[in-house]
Formats: sequence, C-alpha cells, structure tokens
Amino acid sequence: MSKPAPFTCRFAPSPNGRLHLGHAFSALVNAEAARRLGGTFLVRLEDIDTTRCRPEYARGILDDLAWLGILPDGPVRRQSAHFGDYAAAITRLEAMGLVYPAFESRSEIAGAVIGQESATGRPAPRDPDGAPLNPFPRSAMSDAARAALRDRGAPFVVRLDMAASIAALRDMGGGPLSWEEAQGLPEGPLKTVEADAARWGDVVLARKDVPTSYHLSVVVDDAAQGISHVIRGMDLFHATAVHVLLQRLLGLPTPVYHHHRLILDDSGYKLSKSNSATSLAALRAAGATPQDVLRRLSLQPTPST
Ligand code: GLU
Repeated sequence: MSKPAPFTCRFAPSPNGRLHLGHAFSALVNAEAARRLGGTFLVRLEDIDTTRCRPEYARGILDDLAWLGILPDGPVRRQSAHFGDYAAAITRLEAMGLVYPAFESRSEIAGAVIGQESATGRPAPRDPDGAPLNPFPRSAMSDAARAALRDRGAPFVVRLDMAASIAALRDMGGGPLSWEEAQGLPEGPLKTVEADAARWGDVVLARKDVPTSYHLSVVVDDAAQGISHVIRGMDLFHATAVHVLLQRLLGLPTPVYHHHRLILDDSGYKLSKSNSATSLAALRAAGATPQDVLRRLSLQPTPST
C-alpha cells in the first residue's frame, strides 16, 4: 500500500495591503491543522502584480503572522521569483494547442459586452464571480493572424481555450473533472465535487504586463511546494474548477481542498484590504492581543498561543 502524502498546507496572501481578520482566520486554520496533524505549514507571497504588491506589505504580513504566533515550517515562496516556472507551464499548454494570444483591450471587451446586452435585452453570460465572459471567441481570428499580430509587437493576454481543453482531457480518457472537498475540518470527511470549469470561459493565464495569472501560478506553486491540502476561503470555491483543469492538463497532482467560512464585517460584507478598521496592524496599534483576535474569530487558543 502506498504511504499517504504528508500533510502540507499553505497560507498564500497577496502583499498588496496588510492582513485583516479574514486573513488571520485563514492563516490560523492552516497553521492549526498542520500543528494538530504533525504536518507542514508554508507561506507563499502571491506577488505577481508588481505594480500593486510592495516589499513593505510583504514585511508587514510576515510580522503580523509572527505576532499571531504563526511561523512557517520552511522558506517563504515569492511568486515574483518564479516567473520562469509559469512561462514553462504556458509553453507546455501552447504545445498542446490549448492557449492563444488575445488582443482585445479591457475597454473593447466592456464595449462588446454592453453591445451584446443591448442587442439581446438580457445580461451577458457571466462567470461564477459575476464577471462577464469574454465575448470574443478564439475563432474570431485565425491562429496565423494572431501569430502575425504578436510578432509585430501588439500587446496581448494569453487565454486558455476552455472548450479545447475540456475536449483534450476527454480524449485523454481522464474521466469527469472533480476534486475532494474536506468537510467541517481541513482533515474532515471528503466529498467529491464536480469541477465545472466551462463556466469560466477562456480564462486569462498570462496578462499583458505580468507573464502569469492567479490561476496559473497557484496551480504551479501548490505542486512545487508539495501542498497536500489547500485550505482557503469559500470565495475561491468555484475557482477550484479551473485549478483542477489546469492540474490535469499539466500532469500535476490535485490536492484535497477545504474552503472555510468567510469573516464578514458588521454589515455582512466580506472584509477588504481597504477597510483599515479590521486590519491586524490597526488592531495591534489599538492594543489588541493575539488572544483578542482569536476571540473575535471564535477560535480556541492552542497550547502554543
Ligand atoms: N492570494 C489569494 C488571496 O490573497 C489566495 C490564493 C489561494 O489561497 O489560493 O486571496
């Protein structure tokens, strides 16, 4: 019998602001699961957006985690140091014919969506996050015309051809796309969830200014860091379908997932980095202790806190 993979989880914030209570909850749930199971807890800084991410935020995040008593069991991985890994993944998908350069600007896409909505009198089709799907199909331009435009230096994003990707997986005989979702606790009983990636349309895998995207780098890095359990907020539940699809296409393992509850503000909205009232830095400055934070999050102190 093969040995089960050692429990390894991660907290993966983007250093484009300081941590708030929602991040603290996610980090604490991860670190506590690793402690309970004798596993490994890692930190990854998702800093691909070099215009919004700043070194002082990265330092602040690590400082906030240390204040909470959370120390990673290994080196911190910074995505900005691994652009080559993401480019290699795109090259692989390109060789399979599953990605293409797309030249429409954001405003052209927004204009086409408005046109589509006024022509049909109905809202345009949207992805699970509520963003309109890209109205320009790959078939709108030949591959040769796309290659010529790219060679001439026109700015482009790299999109995944979703229909071709799903068909390629079917031809590879991989069976239906799904993942195992741990219920209740990160290591709780597993439930199989069908991964409906088609709802996301031709997602962007590399941006104009950044040679990767959230979806691509999260998949490459979870594999590179040997993550057995991805423990993150419920807001990323539906995005998991895209991640599972990319894992299959790239021949990477699919971790177990656990999507935990979100911490909401007093009006019932998800916390945001722009709301300084719930930032750990503000709470610390106002004299809060790590135990106060645990209490606010309805978490039990552990022997180490
Ligand atoms: N970097 C993402 C965020 O800050 C989290 C990504 C993940 O956990 O998969 O929302």
